[in-house]
Amino acid sequence: MSKEQTRALATTNEAAYERARRVIPGGVNSPVRAYRSVGGAPRFLVSARGAYVTDVEGREYVDLVASWGPAILGHAHPEVVQAVQDAASRGLSFGATTPAETELAELVVARLGGGTEVGGLVDEVRLVSTGTEATMTAIRLARGFTGRSLLIKFAGHYHGHSDGLLAEAGSGVATLALPASAGVPEPIAAQTLVLPYNDLDAVRTAFEAHPGEIAAVIVEAAAANMGVVAPLPGFNRGLTELAHEFGALVILDEVLTGFRVSAKGYWGIDTAPFRTEAKPGGWRTFSQETYLPDLVTFGKVIGGGMPLAALGGRREVMEYLAPVGPVYQAGTLSGNPLSVAAGLATLRLADEAVYDRLYHVSETLQREVSTALAAEGVAHTIQRAGNLFSVLFAETPAVNYAQVQAQEAFRFGPFFHAMLEQGVALPPSVFEAWFVTAAHDEAAVERIVDALPAAAKAAAA
Ligand code: PLP
Repeated sequence: MSKEQTRALATTNEAAYERARRVIPGGVNSPVRAYRSVGGAPRFLVSARGAYVTDVEGREYVDLVASWGPAILGHAHPEVVQAVQDAASRGLSFGATTPAETELAELVVARLGGGTEVGGLVDEVRLVSTGTEATMTAIRLARGFTGRSLLIKFAGHYHGHSDGLLAEAGSGVATLALPASAGVPEPIAAQTLVLPYNDLDAVRTAFEAHPGEIAAVIVEAAAANMGVVAPLPGFNRGLTELAHEFGALVILDEVLTGFRVSAKGYWGIDTAPFRTEAKPGGWRTFSQETYLPDLVTFGKVIGGGMPLAALGGRREVMEYLAPVGPVYQAGTLSGNPLSVAAGLATLRLADEAVYDRLYHVSETLQREVSTALAAEGVAHTIQRAGNLFSVLFAETPAVNYAQVQAQEAFRFGPFFHAMLEQGVALPPSVFEAWFVTAAHDEAAVERIVDALPAAAKAAAA
């Protein structure tokens, strides 16, 4: 154990929380880490490896947060850590361009670019440091490209914490039950039209009400910040057709889904020629037509656990960015060498076997969670999109934010704490997806499964 870990362990979690609250608002540096909706003190962690995290009291948990998505290979994968250490030994940050940034951009283009029968989604990539920056830049770029101002977003979708995107947002905004954030000036909020998800009629109505004014529609490729709510079949395609009909761009936000739900992201699933989906009473297969959004944003997995995100799109739009075009965007630490090394190593390791494992673990847990809740008579639906899933405490699947909010959310707190007590760390909100990793081996899965009956009993109470 390192000196830092030994020092950290010389405290209790409560003491660590007390101390943090004196100097950090709420004791956390991101509200989703607080246990506001489930109650109690957030666990203070000191290390993470594979499928496990360890807190300041030396307790180990099977982790289903995975750093909120990035850790598809599990925590501290030795080859990723080695890549970061090698990069660090050559210098932490140069403020100049490095060949590795080109390699990462090439890798993204190779996964999502031209050469497919549908053409390329991504010709060029700009690296930034956070998902918030990626979506913020994509929106500015769409506005610069179209010369229009208004933006459509969907209720319950989260795209980071920039001013215009916090209205009826998911993630921590949903967890804290905020309709919007204070501190966003009204004229800025008025530039965003918030519509119900999965409702193409509402989108058409908005375009008709604001002719020539809407620059872009931003949409999570599959919503996963109000719990998981997949787009209805054809929704993303219909949205793209409508936006293009009215001269607006589509920004597909794959910050959470990108490189996690498939080698490409949710777009890869959504545009596969055929898709088979579970349906009450059986399965159905339907053919799909493809669609091409104009810009796509990435984060989380692309940085392998380090601060890195990106936006990409077709050349014509991307070359509106400075220094080629008139839309300004910059960053002292953009394309940071350590982050790029972690991202490159992670994407290179993320092969078919990794995605197979993510799906296997996810599907096993979905089945076991459902069995445990059913055994206690708890009304629930497993909401899924690719290998992302969450539990909705309602009998009927939800397709939008209003339906998600109508669930028996009070059941999640006791469920969460019963899991935690048995050594399983879930995301501390019913409005978040559960994140599996390829490092969740059979032993880790078994520990989760063993904890479920008691948690289901707590949820039923
Ligand atoms: N977009 C989506 C879909 C996200 O899930 C998130 C974060 O959870 C963001 C954007 C913002 O990313 P970041 O937290 O890196 O700023």
